[in-house]
Amino acid sequence: MKLVDLHVHTTESDGTFTPEQAVAYAAKKGLAAIAVCDHDSALGHTEALAAGEKYGVEVIPGIEISTKFKSAVHILGYYIDAQEPNMKAAFDWMVADRDGRNEKICEIMRRDGIKADYAEMKERFGTVVGRPHFARILVEQGYAVSIADAFNRYVNRGCKYYLPRSFLSLEDSVKLIVGAGGTAVLAHPFQYKLDDAGLRELIEVCISYGLSGMECRYTGYSEERSAYLEALAEEYGLVKTGGSDFHGANKPLIDMGSGSGGLCVPYEFLEGLKKANAEQRHMA
Ligand code: AMP
Ligand code: FE
Ligand code: FE
Ligand code: ZN
Repeated sequence: MKLVDLHVHTTESDGTFTPEQAVAYAAKKGLAAIAVCDHDSALGHTEALAAGEKYGVEVIPGIEISTKFKSAVHILGYYIDAQEPNMKAAFDWMVADRDGRNEKICEIMRRDGIKADYAEMKERFGTVVGRPHFARILVEQGYAVSIADAFNRYVNRGCKYYLPRSFLSLEDSVKLIVGAGGTAVLAHPFQYKLDDAGLRELIEVCISYGLSGMECRYTGYSEERSAYLEALAEEYGLVKTGGSDFHGANKPLIDMGSGSGGLCVPYEFLEGLKKANAEQRHMA
């Protein structure tokens, strides 16, 4: 069976594989396709698409946007045109907001004697810098033994070096993606700790903004729970997608394609996604 992974992060956000390395790794794993879905960034698309040609892996240009709806909600966008003016402006805004927060985190860290120079971090980690990068420098300087340990003790919400950033609204995020020719998909629905009624409410609201899909298979989701999501997707006429949320060494327990073991996303899911995107563009 041809398998895919529709949720992969690279060094263009908080993954540790460059776009090319991610694609090469997908080829090594025998995956037919991967979607590069960096947080708040489409900067990996060009490199990933070129690598896709080179390694014979189909590459889908995607993004992941963090939004707020009661709790945090993540929306994936597939086949977006990153040059679309509103989308471009949103990327700039998200990066500027991160930069402002991150500068402040650096300041607080420096007060505690940690070496945290934001200009250096940008140079090293790229445009989209996030908490996993702060976790990394804490590990490097001996303040934590692993990324997970650094999150638990220093950068998770409520910890010493946590500062919030701003989020686009759920409505704006879905509409931005659709406006840029992309197909909007609700990411990892169990992460929001909603009951059935809560999840249905979220799905219905998202659909009213233009959502067309839901990530039904995801790292750590049992077959039973995925089946529940797939039934919901069918009920609401949503396309089913799936992915690992691979971040390389920043989430060492998650592997591309297979997640924590047992993840299996068939190529048919990608076919459904493509069809939805083509229909959507045709209607626009
Ligand atoms: P930020 O958007 O900069 O606030 O950072 C949030 C990112 O940190 C998320 O997108 C996750 O990928 C990552 N993250 C959250 N918790 C953990 C954790 N325990 N270990 C590794 N990465 C995490
Ligand atoms: Fe991440
Ligand atoms: Fe996410
Ligand atoms: Zn993700």
